[in-house]
This record gives sequence, C-alpha cells and structure tokens, in this order.
Amino acid sequence: MKIVIFGPPGSGKGTYASLLKNRLGIPHISTGDLVREEIRNGTDLGSEIKKYSDAGQLVPDEVITEILKKRLLLDISKGFILEGYPRSIEQARQLESITKIDVVINLNVPDRVIVERLSTRIQCKSCGAIYNERTLRPKTAGKCDRCGGELFKRADDQPDVILERLRIYKETSAPVIDYYRTRKLLKEITNDDPNVSPEIVGDRILNLI
Ligand code: ADP
Ligand code: ZN
Repeated sequence: MKIVIFGPPGSGKGTYASLLKNRLGIPHISTGDLVREEIRNGTDLGSEIKKYSDAGQLVPDEVITEILKKRLLLDISKGFILEGYPRSIEQARQLESITKIDVVINLNVPDRVIVERLSTRIQCKSCGAIYNERTLRPKTAGKCDRCGGELFKRADDQPDVILERLRIYKETSAPVIDYYRTRKLLKEITNDDPNVSPEIVGDRILNLI
C-alpha cells in the first residue's frame, strides 16, 4: 500500500508515519529526513539545500523530487508511507507521474497547537526519534531512550521560523488537500487534543485505510 501522510509542520506526521511503519511493516520515507541526511553528509547538494531548510523555506521542487526519486529506487515493493511530500501542487503532479498513491491522510491541527509543539520539540541526532521537552521527555535529559544518541533542537524550530513555515504551508502546501480531495484519495483526521496519545491517533489512521 502506498500512503501519503499530509499536514502542516508540527502536525505529528513523522510520529504517525513511524508508528504506521511498525504496524504495517512498510518503509517510512520522510523527505525532511532525506534533506537533513543530505545536509549531514556535507555534499554540494547538502550545502545548497541547507539555506532553505534553516530558514524554514521549501527546497525547490525539482531538487526535492530528485532526492525522493533516488530513495524510491530502493525497497518499495511492499509500498511505503511517504511523509513531507508532496508539499506543492507541482510536487503532487510529479508524484503522480512517478507512482500511483492509494490513500492520503490529512492531519488537521490548529496553529496554536503547532506552535506550542514545535517550540518544545527535540530530536535524536543519531536515529531521528522525536521527543518533547514538555509532553514526551526522554528518561535521561538530553539522551535518546532508543539509542543513547544526543538530543538537539532543530534550527527551524525557532519561533520566527515556525511562523514562516506555517505561512508557506498555507500558501503553497494546503492547496494539495483539494488536489487529492478531487481525486477521491483524501481521508481526514483531526488532531487537536494534546492529551490524546500518538498510539490512539495511529489506531484511528489504521481504521481509515
Ligand atoms: P516540518 O516539520 O516542517 O514538516 P520536515 O522535517 O518535513 O519539516 O522538513 C524540513 C525541511 O526540509 C523543510 O522546511 C524544507 O526546507 C525541506 N523539505 C522537506 N520536504 C520538502 C518538500 N517536499 N519540498 C520542499 N522542501 C522540503
Ligand atoms: Zn536515538
């Protein structure tokens, strides 16, 4: 099954995608992670895209699509959970020409929840696991429960950059919702209660697909 998880920055896309990966046994492909990996590897492409990523801006469509295509050449025979792509109508068109998607999950999350969540988010440098300084603390401060890696705050999780990411989301990414609604691929989830655990939201998504 080929699933797209769509939603604003901070809507929990990454968290749910990795839950679904474990439940469904299919790979989780995150273009945000692919971008950070490219930057970490210090390639020419990495230093080019770092400018966009640090400022909370989108990497140009052709560049991100090439990065995604490279990943899609690997193991996708059982399908995948794609997260962070498409983020523009142009990318949705490009994806359609690469492969056929079965379902798109749209996460509806209010702005105030997003700002609150992202400004307290921390992530593992080694394995990418996500924590939160308020709601999902690691057992030992600054250390990943899963792999012992160092936890850090992303450069684009600063308040002014968060607002910029939300602005770009509304302008460029949100129109993708209608694109998939028209094609009857869209399933909606509302995720506005911080007290509902990720596992429960994960169950709701599983019920939808
Ligand atoms: P977010 O938490 O904002 O959803 P991601 O981790 O998905 O962030 O992405 C981080 C950054 O990587 C984005 O701000 C952007 O610069 C770049 N990026 C990731 N996916 C895309 C995409 N589909 N199109 C353009 N840029 C992307
Ligand atoms: Zn880790």
